[in-house]
Amino acid sequence: MTSNSPTEKFKLHVPSLEELCEVLESGLKQNFADAKVSVTDCPDLTQEPFKFPVKGLCGKPRITDVGGVPYLIPLVQVEKLYNMNVLSKELELPGAFIIGAGAVSSKTAGMNAELMPLVLTESEGKPAVNASYFSSVNPEDGKCLLEKYSDKFHDCDFGLLANLYACEGKSGKVIEVRASQRTGQDSLVTCMRKAMEQRYLDKSLGLGGTFIIQKGKAKIHIMPREFSACPLQTEDEVNNWLKHYEVSAPFICQSVMVSRDPGLDLRVEHTHGFSHHGEGGHYYIDTTPDTVEYQGYFLPAEYIYRIDRPKDTHKIGRD
Ligand code: ZN
Repeated sequence: MTSNSPTEKFKLHVPSLEELCEVLESGLKQNFADAKVSVTDCPDLTQEPFKFPVKGLCGKPRITDVGGVPYLIPLVQVEKLYNMNVLSKELELPGAFIIGAGAVSSKTAGMNAELMPLVLTESEGKPAVNASYFSSVNPEDGKCLLEKYSDKFHDCDFGLLANLYACEGKSGKVIEVRASQRTGQDSLVTCMRKAMEQRYLDKSLGLGGTFIIQKGKAKIHIMPREFSACPLQTEDEVNNWLKHYEVSAPFICQSVMVSRDPGLDLRVEHTHGFSHHGEGGHYYIDTTPDTVEYQGYFLPAEYIYRIDRPKDTHKIGRD
């Protein structure tokens, strides 16, 4: 793991779960016809439809922003490679369970692809359990190709950028979010993030977790297998380079969000998702507002770690 910059650790504001429920529910009610947010026991995430390698999202919750879009565009820096086991130590939580949104190591995969990380990192001689998925553009038909990482590769590497939530993977209390019938313009994640941003004006909150799109469809993108040979300089050029798809429920997402950037040059929200029907990638928003239904589980993070922050930065491509 080569790093340009030393890791920066920032303490986030953690309100009580009850208070956070009120804030999120009132925000969601402005964007959805129905919304309910409550404190509940984390469901057993080893079960369908999650099938995660741990039971819960609890125990020393923290988030991290690793690398960044400036390592992908305007031109790729292929040497930007990271490893989940090394990362867990950098997060002061060896053996952490890590979920979120990132990119594969192009060195491992031999191509560029979206990564849906689901990794129980190694600890005390126990090997890592890598339950991640990755999605790429199928060279045969241009469609979305979702694969289990461990079916193809045997490391815990990733590349370029990632927004991740790490915890001990324990059972415990979490925030359950239910929202249906979208009436506003914001995605579930953007709406939750803005609700926190508007309520906590001078504080930064971080949230991580997982949600299911239970009904409806959603818009996603997948990066092409080949990095762009010509520099991508604008939002339009990036969007023309990305491949866009519409995916169907049930779609299982993993999300990391920060209410406001405390000056760490963050991507303030990032969500990737997978399914059990061959679809996966970077989530933007549902495309079926009238029928969409969301159910999710989240926890506020105690710290954010900014790792290998790019020195030359820009704001393009952070949607
Ligand atoms: Zn993404």
